[in-house]
Amino acid sequence: MLVLARRAQDAEISASVLRRSRLSCVRCANLDELCSRIREGAGTVILDEVALQNRSLAPLLEALREQPPWSDLPFVILTTGGHSTTLSLKRFHALEQLGHITLLERPIRTVTLIASVRAALASRARQYQVRDHLTALMSQAEELSRFNAALEQFAFAAAHDLQEPIRNVSLYTQLLAKRYHGQMGREADHFIRTITEGAERLAHLVQDLLEYTRAVVSPSEPLAEVDCNEAMADVLFNLRTAMESTQARVTYSPLPALAVYRIHITVLLQNLISNGIKYRGARVPCIHVSAERENGWWHFRVRDNGIGIGPQYREKIFGVFTRLHGREIPGTGIGLAICQRIVHHYNGRIWVESEPGEGSVFHFTLPDREETAT
Ligand code: ADP
Repeated sequence: MLVLARRAQDAEISASVLRRSRLSCVRCANLDELCSRIREGAGTVILDEVALQNRSLAPLLEALREQPPWSDLPFVILTTGGHSTTLSLKRFHALEQLGHITLLERPIRTVTLIASVRAALASRARQYQVRDHLTALMSQAEELSRFNAALEQFAFAAAHDLQEPIRNVSLYTQLLAKRYHGQMGREADHFIRTITEGAERLAHLVQDLLEYTRAVVSPSEPLAEVDCNEAMADVLFNLRTAMESTQARVTYSPLPALAVYRIHITVLLQNLISNGIKYRGARVPCIHVSAERENGWWHFRVRDNGIGIGPQYREKIFGVFTRLHGREIPGTGIGLAICQRIVHHYNGRIWVESEPGEGSVFHFTLPDREETAT
């Protein structure tokens, strides 16, 4: 506990009263000493209002500004009694912004002083507890993010290294099928076909897993402004075969320019639109993309007229390898997980509104480029 009074004698009186109650205190000779002791760490400050008169509070406010965010250093201020001057009130107000002040008006009873100091010390002890919890949480968060990074590296390496053997299996079973089809009996043909299909599915899975891990491992191009209309044109070009074969109609309203990686917005739109085509049901797919500016964010909507999604699956579908369909519709269940990863990378949100048979609207938000720049 730090004590600062105008006269050493006054400080000693307060200090000895507190010491008698087994509260340890340090008398500070002047404001500079008080400030340097605050920087070293203090429980409570007992301040004589008179000690601040004719002095600038600036060094004290500076020392308080340097305190960590969890700190709300308690000040017990012994006022002169009677009406406080406007200057004093202003100073109390300034201190209040950076610390927690309790005013005790003279004449002060010893019990009042001791009770106020004890309450101040208890509140300071709780602040230190909060600090300890915060430190523990931060180190857990760091550990978790190190663990995640290691896991990601592992998934990436595993997916990467699996590609080669899968390619070989695929290649050699195709060769087997080509050379020996019809020569080893129908059962053998069936086995070979099953192996070829399995290898193909495995290759897609591994490819998508690689894409998932790459989705946020910083792309190599620098972060620049991207015109989403251009990204949309790329998407329509990439999906032209699927669109032609299903006669899909994909339209979009003018889209914004954003400070995101071009590959990210392209992958996002492509996954959502290709899902709209894939999960079309009996209807000719009709998909519309739009974006509106809302409180510093761009709110995108990708609307389709497909088979829709039941309420129990609306969150699950964003999980890795989550699929609601069998092999009749091809897919690996990673597309939406990639979309979610990308959107979360920019602190945005992604969700779906849908009813079975009524189509779906996939929503996602990305920060406006002006907000990203600030
Ligand atoms: P994939 O399409 O490869 O299975 P996704 O992660 O893109 O993987 O989608 C997960 C699941 O969510 C899909 O298997 C499908 O059941 C469902 N789904 C996604 N998009 C739509 C959509 N537009 N309409 C209906 N169901 C959808």
